[in-house]
Amino acid sequence: MTPQHTGAATAPSLLLFDIDGTLLQKASREHAVALYGALKSVHGVDCSGPPSSAAGRTDGEIARLLLQTAGIDDAGIDSGAQAVATECCRIYADGGCPPDLSGHVVPGIPTLLQRLSGRDDIRLGLVTGNYEEVAKTKLAAAGLLPFFEPWIGGFGSDSENRFDLPPIARERAGSPGPAWPQDRTIVIGDTPRDIACARADGLRVIAVTTGPVAASELGEADAVCVDSAALEQAIASMAG
Ligand SMILES: [Mg+2]
Repeated sequence: MTPQHTGAATAPSLLLFDIDGTLLQKASREHAVALYGALKSVHGVDCSGPPSSAAGRTDGEIARLLLQTAGIDDAGIDSGAQAVATECCRIYADGGCPPDLSGHVVPGIPTLLQRLSGRDDIRLGLVTGNYEEVAKTKLAAAGLLPFFEPWIGGFGSDSENRFDLPPIARERAGSPGPAWPQDRTIVIGDTPRDIACARADGLRVIAVTTGPVAASELGEADAVCVDSAALEQAIASMAG
């Protein structure tokens, strides 16, 4: 049954999942390699040093930090941003992404998504800093892409600022009507940046400790979950 946008009281709950650290673990090495390749191709600089703090940042934001470190000025970064995104997606989709990322899926997530996707009172979307094509290529390789509504999400290719992504995802979820209601939307992610972007849009947020961030740094979330079973319980209590 197609979910109907019938108002705040009866609308299904829209769950907006982060990818890295939330659905997948340690599945971003080839993604980073694709980004380094794009920066080399577009700006001629080698940015493949030790990993910086990428967790929770958008791809465009990571690219900017790497380029700033390499001495590129903001005007140059801005003018090349679209080309970097296009080239990163091309490299990743064109053999950069491992053909099978299913071994990187957080335990219990496929079963959880299977159950949630069968419910009429739940909609599944994404809020991720990954460029959209990277996100979809990655989830397809992990076997998770079919669980998500194809057009629902906010991606790193939509904005360099993660705060912009939940409103974009709600707008798409409500289209062609008004944006999906804030009180029927929940962000699920693994970093303080996920929490902050949800709060900036007035949304509830569930944090998971399956990424690199400890529970002690995720206390601003409405719930902190250590595994998929706890996540399922938190969704049940918040989305009911
Ligand atoms: Mg994450």
